[in-house]
Amino acid sequence: MNKDFIDFLDKEDPLRSHKKKFNLPPGIVYLDGNSLGALPKTVTQHIMEVVNNQWGQTLISSWNEFDWINLPIKVGNKIGQLTGAEHNSVICADSTSINLYKLLSAATQLNPDRKVILSDTGNFPNDLYIIQGLVKQLNNNFELRLVEPEEISSALREDVSVAVITEVDYRTGRKHNMANLTAISKTKGIKIIWDLCHSTGAFPVDLSGCGVELAVGCSYKYLNGGPGAPAFLYVSPELQESIQPPLSGWMGHEAPFSFDLDYRPGNGVSRNLCGTPGIISMSALDAALDVWKDVDLRLVRQKSQKLFNLFADLVKELCPETGLSLKTTFPESERGSQIAFSHPEGYAIIKALIDHGVIGDFRAPNILRFGLTPLYLSFGDVYRAVLILSEIMQKRTWDQPKYHERSLVT
Ligand SMILES: *Cc1c(COP(=O)(O)O)cnc(C)c1O
Repeated sequence: MNKDFIDFLDKEDPLRSHKKKFNLPPGIVYLDGNSLGALPKTVTQHIMEVVNNQWGQTLISSWNEFDWINLPIKVGNKIGQLTGAEHNSVICADSTSINLYKLLSAATQLNPDRKVILSDTGNFPNDLYIIQGLVKQLNNNFELRLVEPEEISSALREDVSVAVITEVDYRTGRKHNMANLTAISKTKGIKIIWDLCHSTGAFPVDLSGCGVELAVGCSYKYLNGGPGAPAFLYVSPELQESIQPPLSGWMGHEAPFSFDLDYRPGNGVSRNLCGTPGIISMSALDAALDVWKDVDLRLVRQKSQKLFNLFADLVKELCPETGLSLKTTFPESERGSQIAFSHPEGYAIIKALIDHGVIGDFRAPNILRFGLTPLYLSFGDVYRAVLILSEIMQKRTWDQPKYHERSLVT
């Protein structure tokens, strides 16, 4: 493939102007925005303001003065706009794991006669751990039924209470059909909790249009909220008043500052708040979400697909007979915004790539994973990354002891 063609793709790219909104270290190609998004420049300024002026100067009055108390719903609404949610149906709070626990626990009570929680083997193991924990807590009265991802639609049967489905497989990038599965679940009286960790900010999501009732997701991947940034949860307007929050903390109380002795759930989605939000990290996310203000997610999707095709074509052309095997083999409509390959030496190859300025990640047992984040990734970046990958593969650079040493985080 010729470099002029790559330059042409970048010149014609309607999203090319967004890269300058991010603080990226020079000389690297960052292909891990699906795990930890890059730092938007607005975040640095805003955090300084929140720390020095709000907290530093206005102290506790900032809860009213700067409306910290409403930050979870304000940030939630910004996320809601990126996910096709109705106004005031998303709150920003806690972590994805905790939000999943909260909604799962509440959802099982909406279907009290059914004792099966359904999920698939393509789910992120963490979500399965949360389900297992809850099942145990409910004295094993419930069963976690695990099926293969391809079987999930036929497994939506009438004995299922809740299904926990992650839209995009964190390893292969396979994407479930949200509209279809949601429609089936409704005819069977099943609640689906959608996990949108690899969806939000990666492509258009239409919660309202698909009739989704419950969803959770994180904000440090494609939303660039920063390491451990607070997550979000969605409850459809029809369901909001039926949810009995299991973590019934004061922030979700109808009147937190009445200090009544009894808990009464607040109105709407906000009842799913629990304790005091982390204002500094939520403010970072608040500022990070501003990069989406003038972004059309359909263009993000189009560019993501083009980046994917370029990546796959270049690997085919430049890395033949190296043992790299494409794992994201699904049609365009059935993949998220990443590309994955398998290789028995995947770990060492990723380590060598990182050492040469190309940051992707490894997922056990043998997956090399590259996130495609159209706002700050150019076609030239992908070209450079695959050139470096090709050299590492041809010269077997990865086969050095230092690249085989395992770190704690992969
Ligand atoms: C990243 C991710 C999580 C992360 O959960 P945390 O509580 O933030 O650690 C959960 N589920 C899925 C599907 C993910 O991809």
